[in-house]
Amino acid sequence: MEYSSLSRQELEKQYTQLQKQYERYSELGLSLDLSRGKPGKEQLDLLSGMLDVISTSADCQSEAGIDCRNYGLLDGIPEAKKLFSDLCGIPQEMLIVAGNSSLNLMYDSVARAMLYGVAGSERPWCREEKVKFLCPAPGYDRHFAICKSLGIEMITVDMTPTGPDMDTVEKLVSTDPQIKGIWCCPKYSNPEGITYSDETVRRFAALKPAAPDFRIFWDNAYAVHDLYSDKKDTLADIFALAREYDNEDIVFYFASTSKISFPGSGVAIFAASVNNLKQIKPIMGVQTIGFDKINQIRHVKYFKSAANIHDHMADLAKIIRPKFEIVLEILSEHLDGTGIATWTKPVGGYFVSLNVMDGTAKETYRLAKEAGVTLTDVGATYPYGIDPRDSNIRIAPTFPSNDELMAAMEVLVCCTKLAATKKLLGII
Ligand code: PMP
Repeated sequence: MEYSSLSRQELEKQYTQLQKQYERYSELGLSLDLSRGKPGKEQLDLLSGMLDVISTSADCQSEAGIDCRNYGLLDGIPEAKKLFSDLCGIPQEMLIVAGNSSLNLMYDSVARAMLYGVAGSERPWCREEKVKFLCPAPGYDRHFAICKSLGIEMITVDMTPTGPDMDTVEKLVSTDPQIKGIWCCPKYSNPEGITYSDETVRRFAALKPAAPDFRIFWDNAYAVHDLYSDKKDTLADIFALAREYDNEDIVFYFASTSKISFPGSGVAIFAASVNNLKQIKPIMGVQTIGFDKINQIRHVKYFKSAANIHDHMADLAKIIRPKFEIVLEILSEHLDGTGIATWTKPVGGYFVSLNVMDGTAKETYRLAKEAGVTLTDVGATYPYGIDPRDSNIRIAPTFPSNDELMAAMEVLVCCTKLAATKKLLGII
């Protein structure tokens, strides 16, 4: 039943029923967490072989005669470069295989630009009167946190089903030289699970920024994270397209194995044009003598090939897919036809994005929290933590067990309905 067509009397009756249901949930003493995109234990257990693959000093010898136990090779061991080059379709000379976190590489890339500028900068970004970034939203809270921490002004750009609103992106980037960057999570985006269309990627590749040192921060965190073997999104090759427009310097590319192997103990990569790397590597070389090569060789010895990584992702999908199905089924069962919520139905990635009735996300969050279900902070998916419509809730289904997830979702839909009913009754 559409909530908007309910009479006040019907709404009041519904409010009483929902309130009773909510109290029953509250009495269960639940403690469930849908807030962060962490793999579940079962996913991690699939990789236990990885802990044994390096056990002797002989295991630490890289094919080029490099002893991975020692210093050396700022941009990674050759076999790791080959593995990630194959996996991401990026030429090896454009790759740096780095440490345990792509977020770390993103932070460093922005901080480095602030301190030194990028290839083609007239001065370090921190010497500019103001630095601004475009932030497609809803987006990844930690991207926004980097801007906030470094004093970069954030301009929200709407997301559409084909990626960021490119008319706005083109208009702003081509007219405002203070805009130095844009955050993108182009495949199975966090939180909506949207993959940018070929046209969107082409328009990114062809951007003509007013700032000569503008960069696209292309965070391909979910590059191979498909949920279905027969329904996969494909992302166009931004470097190949940028090359067509003689615009290769515009892309800074990031990815990691955090949600392939072990988050926090995976391997991250950075890719950029040779011209960009010429500026970046000497600065990186001041920061570190080299990254963790033992972990790099561990990943190479365990996975051996890009094809094996795809097979492993298919095994992980068998664990993750039922969790997405639980979320989607419960949302659909309780909220279809109510007109109070919409949600994404991604075919990959780590999140479902739920839009509850405008003005009720905070209340839904509060109700859920008090009933023992923790959601991602409302507003976190927007710059400055402010969702202008107070509507978006990110659901991260991977960490809880299936039973816990079911219980958490039942509470969430109850809170969504209760908050909407309160809003319509003018109680909130
Ligand atoms: N980017 C996005 C879009 C993410 O969702 C995440 C993890 N939640 C990261 C980056 C973090 O990656 P890493 O572990 O490599 O720092």
